[in-house]
Amino acid sequence: MFKKIIEKFNQIIGIDLGTANTLVYTKEKGIIINEPSVIAVNLKTEQILAVGQEAKMMLGKTPPYIAVNRPLSHGIISDFEITEKMLRYFIAKINHGNFLFATRPAVVIGVPLEITEVECKAVEDAILSAGARKAIIVEEPMAAAIGAKMPVQEAIASMVIDLGGGTTEIAVISLSGIVTSKSIKIAGDEFNRNIIQYAKEKYNLLIGEIHAEELKIRIGSAQEMDETLEYQIRGRDLLTGLPRENTITDEEVREALQRSVRIIIDNIKSVLEITPPELIADIHERGIVLTGGGALLKGLDKAITAATQISVRIADDPLTCVVRGTGILIEEPELLKTVAIPSQFEKR
Ligand code: ADP
Ligand code: MG
Repeated sequence: MFKKIIEKFNQIIGIDLGTANTLVYTKEKGIIINEPSVIAVNLKTEQILAVGQEAKMMLGKTPPYIAVNRPLSHGIISDFEITEKMLRYFIAKINHGNFLFATRPAVVIGVPLEITEVECKAVEDAILSAGARKAIIVEEPMAAAIGAKMPVQEAIASMVIDLGGGTTEIAVISLSGIVTSKSIKIAGDEFNRNIIQYAKEKYNLLIGEIHAEELKIRIGSAQEMDETLEYQIRGRDLLTGLPRENTITDEEVREALQRSVRIIIDNIKSVLEITPPELIADIHERGIVLTGGGALLKGLDKAITAATQISVRIADDPLTCVVRGTGILIEEPELLKTVAIPSQFEKR
């Protein structure tokens, strides 16, 4: 009993604060929260109406007194207060109302590459003011690679591509450090926008974001597939202003996504170009690993292989790699110490 209390006071948890999804990992229970990074607030009373999946269902369907927010954009906090509220809600959920033993956990949290000091400090601040005792910052692709069980500590290149909602992070890791990398602001959300734009231009049809995402997940692809897929899109006819339906094929969605996919592939190539030859040889032998929700875009692995001549593997359960990586780091304090980036607070 006493040991349990002590453990609870030393609680350390992992959080993947993503543009699209927030996940929380605890030692005892593994992944206990996996929800969209969305929050709905009543503007009249400032009350939180819903967080996560429930709030996402409200997107685009609210009266003026309800604001549905996605407080992160491109992996960076764009609305501090709302992010803090969302984190506070999730952290409170872990303690599930057990106020007697409600603890202030230390939090291992991933941040995107190429984040500025100010942006990084905002993440730390949000974590602390949401009730954590300490924030330990790690780079997202490092956490993703660890979560995908890549041998990051060895003198062997591990190339990981984490394709999330707001950013695509490309990194080559060796000896627990990132050797070469690139972060671009084209990822899953941009794919959705590409589809919306395409429907607008080709069919004069305005479709919603949620609908575009569904279309992408159902029939979206980066390379030609064996079977033809179709999907009914519904939206507003921009000429008549009235509701209308249209059938769209996988080929059309591919066309819509083509430019974004091309930019991602070009950036993968440019990381390869600046990677030292010994590491390139490893990558050639061991392949590239894809993580993040975007890894599930049909044919993306094959499209990358076709462009780079390197084999590509989609990590198991790619959406949870980053948070599972933080979970492994919690269990391995030495590795955590090596990969953690200095706190903006300790720096001063
Ligand atoms: P983040 O880390 O930015 O929160 P995630 O790794 O959670 O992002 O991935 C979310 C993105 O993955 C969203 O853009 C979502 O539409 C996309 N996604 C999820 N499943 C699929 C799928 N099966 N095919 C294509 N994209 C998908
Ligand atoms: Mg992510």
